[in-house]
Amino acid sequence: MFESLGRRLSDIFDQLRRKSGLTEADVTAALRHIRIALLEADVALPAIAALLDDVKSHVIGSQVLKSIAPDQMIIKAVHEGLIRLLDHSDQNWIMGRKKPTVFLMAGLQGSGKTTMSAKIAWLFKDRKVLMASLDIYRPAAQKQLEILGQSISVDTLPIIEGQAPLDIARRALLAAESYDLLIVDTAGRLHRDAEMMQELRSIKDLIHPDEVLLVIDALSGQDGLTTAKEFHQDIGLTGVGLSRVDGDGRGGVALSLRHATGCPIKVMGMGENPSQVMLFEAKRLADRILDKGDIVGLVEKAQVLAETVNQEAQMKRMQKGIFTLEDVSTHLKQLESLGGLKGVLGFLPGMRGIKDQLEQHPDRANFKQQQAIISSMTLTERRRPELLNASRKRRIALGSGTDVAAVNRLLEQFFQMQKMMKSLKQQPPRKGFRS
Ligand code: GDP
Ligand code: MG
Repeated sequence: MFESLGRRLSDIFDQLRRKSGLTEADVTAALRHIRIALLEADVALPAIAALLDDVKSHVIGSQVLKSIAPDQMIIKAVHEGLIRLLDHSDQNWIMGRKKPTVFLMAGLQGSGKTTMSAKIAWLFKDRKVLMASLDIYRPAAQKQLEILGQSISVDTLPIIEGQAPLDIARRALLAAESYDLLIVDTAGRLHRDAEMMQELRSIKDLIHPDEVLLVIDALSGQDGLTTAKEFHQDIGLTGVGLSRVDGDGRGGVALSLRHATGCPIKVMGMGENPSQVMLFEAKRLADRILDKGDIVGLVEKAQVLAETVNQEAQMKRMQKGIFTLEDVSTHLKQLESLGGLKGVLGFLPGMRGIKDQLEQHPDRANFKQQQAIISSMTLTERRRPELLNASRKRRIALGSGTDVAAVNRLLEQFFQMQKMMKSLKQQPPRKGFRS
């Protein structure tokens, strides 16, 4: 799930990244592309509108465009917007005050209720769990739950053929007195109908569940949303279990559910086995969609960095086209303090050239060596590297424990960066972003 949405978004961000400065128009265009990508992922319109409003409010009028890495800031805004859209503030299991806690599973036929029942039992495997199936309509449905239960050593209510759902429910309540958790699996229909809803309501009235969980197939698209809305209206849900997240669904349901129904997704099924289950985590989902969990971490690091170094003074110098080996040295030190390298390079003004080279020639990644070379230069040499003749280069190579070729490589990179700085200077200064 989310593969194509993730790819689309990363293309959009790549385009932003390739620009040397972002304008308000660039951002507007990017937001328009994000909107299309979300539409294609089958995300519901109101959820898209909410997300984009959220992102806009964090990007426009803020310092984002003036920041060191506006593209990264926009990714961060989208990431955080997604987390807010998925809001999982109330996704913890509702555990009853009295024993046993009771979970009621509801959903259409084939949505994955029985499997999800076993998955939840598996999540609670260190407690005493009893499962009971009230599905007397689908052949062997009760047996299916029993077999799943056996596979994870979870008790199921003994099957008595010919019993009506409400009678099974009563028996389950009695049997569950010595258990911590009772999971009640129910019958679904292909489509929601009055009979099913009536049955669910009477089951609910009888067992007073702490959780009423609707199981929705992640592949069900907008239909799944409609189902969720209707079930929520009819019986009142406390949460949703999303099944088949392992499939190649576009992910629209997952992203729209919360906004459409107000119900939190609590758990996700990722396969046919009871153990293939994950508690829902908005951040992890957003990470996965953006395929950028680490980037977000880096943005946070970059913000810390921005507070520690005098970015503005540096930017001003660079805008004037002043860029010396001393700047390179400062950057290298900053890089070191950040711990990471490649991913961080994009954040530092003027370092993108190096980043591209790094991607093409990983052997040039020896920053420690470059740092040593710069340290072996005199102040004058750092400011005016054009003074470096063969004998000076030999001295520097010796002093830094490298060779003349390494010194030349560094200089070559430096002159390239300097050229880039000069070309930046010729561009009109970026305007601030006013809303
Ligand atoms: P129910 O009719 O709602 O009880 O649905 P079931 O639990 O019987 O599931 C229907 C089919 O979907 C079964 O073959 C399950 O193995 C399969 N299934 C359920 N959940 C998942 C899941 O998360 N991933 C995959 N790949 N298959 C699932
Ligand atoms: Mg079933």
